[in-house]
Parts: sequence; C-alpha cells; structure tokens
Amino acid sequence: MPQHTPDIAPTPGLPVTLAPGLRCILAPNPSSMTLHGTNTYLVGSKGLAVIDPGPADPAHLAAIRAAVGPDQHISHILVTHAHLDHSPLARPLATLTGAPVLAYGDATAGRSALMQELAATSRQDIGGGEGVDAGFAPDICLADEEIVQGDNWSIAALWTPGHFGNHMCFAIGDAILTGDLVMGWATSLISPPDGDMSDYMASCRRLSARRPHTLYPGHGAPVTQAVARIEQILAHRLTRETAIIQALKRGPADARTLAAILYQDTPATLLPAATRSVLAHLIDLTQQNRIFPQSALRMDAVFESHEI
Ligand SMILES: [Zn+2]
Repeated sequence: MPQHTPDIAPTPGLPVTLAPGLRCILAPNPSSMTLHGTNTYLVGSKGLAVIDPGPADPAHLAAIRAAVGPDQHISHILVTHAHLDHSPLARPLATLTGAPVLAYGDATAGRSALMQELAATSRQDIGGGEGVDAGFAPDICLADEEIVQGDNWSIAALWTPGHFGNHMCFAIGDAILTGDLVMGWATSLISPPDGDMSDYMASCRRLSARRPHTLYPGHGAPVTQAVARIEQILAHRLTRETAIIQALKRGPADARTLAAILYQDTPATLLPAATRSVLAHLIDLTQQNRIFPQSALRMDAVFESHEI
C-alpha cells in the first residue's frame, strides 16, 4: 500500500549510478504496485551481476545490454523473486550473455508447510497467485547465506520469504538489495499462499538485526534510514494486527469485511490488495491461536476472537 508521495521518477532505460560499482536502470512498467517501475541493479565494474532483470520488455532488455560497456560483461543474473515484474527477462538475458540465473528456487520454492497445504488443497478457495512468473527456473539454486563471488564484488544471498516464498535479499557490504520485501514508499503485498505474514515479519526482523546502512528496493528510491524504515514497517503490521483483533472482538468477520473497515482511506483500486494482506494477517493470527476460523481457511472464511 502506498504510504506517501514518492520521489521524482528516473528516466526508464537510463542507468543511474547509486554508489561505486552499483547502478540502477528503471524498467518502463509503472503501476500502483510498482511505482515508477522495476529497479534493475547492476553490480560491479567489469564482470557485472544483474539483479532483477525485470519484466518481459524488449526495450528494457536492450537498455540493460546498452549499459554494459565495451570492457564489461554480465557474469551473473540474480533474481529476488519470481514475480512478473522482476524475473521474466532473466532467461532471455542468460541466453544472450551466457551468464547463469541464480535464485532461491522456482516459483513455488520456499513456501511454508501451511501455505503448501493451502495451495494444494484449496487453491481456488484461498485466491492469490497475482503476477507469478510460473515458468521461472534458475540455473543455480542459492542457499540461505550463500556468498556469490564475482569480479571485485561479493554478494550474500539471504532467503527472506514473506512477500513471496522464493524471495531473496542480496547484501553487499552494509547495503541490502531488498526486492519487494522492504520499500520506502509502500508496504509489500502479502497475498497467501505466496505471501506469508509470519515469514514476512521474521524476514523483516532478520534484516533489521543486520543493521544495514542503506536499502535498495525493487521499486522506488534508496532508503537511507534503513533500520528505522524496517522497524516502521514492523510497527505498522503490529498495529494492523491489533486493529484486526479489536474489530473481531466486536463480532466475527471475513477478510473483505475487515479490509473495508480498516482501509477506509484506501482507494477502491487498492482494496483487493488490502484484503489479501488482511487475509494474510488472519492466517498468521490463526497460527498463533489468537483468533479462530469458523470453517476451513479460505478467502471467505469468517474468523472470531475469543479475547475479551
Ligand atoms: Zn513482487
């Protein structure tokens, strides 16, 4: 959900230098969910790592290739997660350059046991699946904390599920490329079964504990107050959690009803995403035995609180 007016948009296709050995190219896919578009990052000065090649857009593929200088080459392609705005250009770029695609796993990798169950037994009932790049398959699956070494750079891959099961953040020194886990201008969409609120909170706490200096998100400008921003997001989620429990104390309700109550100031176009996040909270709170569904977990399940 967008939270404040963002910075001025960079020009799509033109590389912007953010730090020594770190450039960003904006993809031309602006939307309410992607802000100005997807940030494709280039790491290194000779052998380059491309992080999140972006959506299937020939112009963006050409822009990435044009950013590679005569004495440079692409040696690695890293993907934060298998969403259509981040991963589809990975394969065409790999074919053109010979560089391998590295990620945690395919589009279903990294789901929690409960989310696997919800996806398998009641996929239609639980909804979700927005924007999944179902055909995504890396050449190399990265383990949590695995170090990827390149030409004068070193990237630590951190498995950070929550927004998406196969989501990874990439740490370079005291900076972290956060994909869609943490952004400066909006909170992440958490849509079960790909999104998991319990995992999301744990991943955010883990990033905060690393005390990063700067975050480079998949959408929007770099975040310099890195730890403060992560803590703000965690506090925001806990506030939502409390509000959901308070609302359920007034009577049983489903995700849609609760979203209409809790997101009264939200534009109608964003209410479906808000409803998905409420459902993610409801599943998380059910896991914590703080609320109880009156039926099997599904999109229209009614939940109740036994708290007074
Ligand atoms: Zn995403």
